[in-house]
Amino acid sequence: MTELCERGRPKARVKIVDEIINKEDLIQKEYTLHDIQQVTKDIDCTIKFLASVGLLHNSVTCCDRAMGFVIRKRYSDGRAWHCSICRSYRSIRNDSFFSKSCIRLTRLLELIYWWTSIESTQSVVMDQVGLGTEAIVNWYNYFRDVCAMWCIDHPTKIGGEGVKVDIAESKFMHRQYHRGRYKEGHWILGMVERHSLNSVLVPVPDQSGATLLPIILKHVLPGTCIVTDGCHSYEKLPESADHCLQFMDAKDEKLNRNTTEGTWNNVKNRYKHLYGPSDNLFSTYLQEFSWRRVHKNNTFMSFIFWIRHYYPV
Ligand SMILES: [Zn+2]
Repeated sequence: MTELCERGRPKARVKIVDEIINKEDLIQKEYTLHDIQQVTKDIDCTIKFLASVGLLHNSVTCCDRAMGFVIRKRYSDGRAWHCSICRSYRSIRNDSFFSKSCIRLTRLLELIYWWTSIESTQSVVMDQVGLGTEAIVNWYNYFRDVCAMWCIDHPTKIGGEGVKVDIAESKFMHRQYHRGRYKEGHWILGMVERHSLNSVLVPVPDQSGATLLPIILKHVLPGTCIVTDGCHSYEKLPESADHCLQFMDAKDEKLNRNTTEGTWNNVKNRYKHLYGPSDNLFSTYLQEFSWRRVHKNNTFMSFIFWIRHYYPV
């Protein structure tokens, strides 16, 4: 869309794309690996995609005028906004999720796709996307921040009248899951709704009833039938009665009670390849897991949606 200015010279574009997709419509769109390969085949396609989904500014003003979208080699993507009045340039990444990085946007978009949709091992991603380990680890941490914000804003409640919820504590990142360096494990309280497998995983400092019960009361709806392995002190605490929770010993249950164990194994399998994640990152791994469960139908565009939500431009 090149327009002509009064003197007949081509004028720079003032918008990257004609239309920005409504935020609510993002999740209706699905992208295959082939689609992403098209979108990342050159920097202009990638920039158009990112502007259309609302992750980059589509237009910018300076000196009360629309800035022009121009080629500018000095900038990391070879593109910039330019003001013809004050002659200043501005990065196309300003205010965006990508503003602190100078890795090419094509690679970052590919990385988002691989992380959300393919979930390969890091070595495969390194080969496919062409980024080093450090960059991948840093960006994965940054991606998990989005999941963490989502989890904080969407405190889950599970269970309800007559619904069974399995509760178990488990120790993650135990020695057995690590090659080499010993890391003390983290105790996690897991609550898994039996029919839906919706789950809440909360890192806990200890396994006392005083610690666990308030967390259970916060995340489990009244009327829930809680299935435990029958050795928990919190069942005896008076608040359980106030909250109308029933406790049931798993041994009394004829049903297969592998629900919680299955979820533990999913989480552990996913992260056992990771070598020694730091303690303060650990809860974000759990948040990633919870986020993925809820967004499993269209992980890539859901992630784009939430980046747009938390990093509006
Ligand atoms: Zn200006």
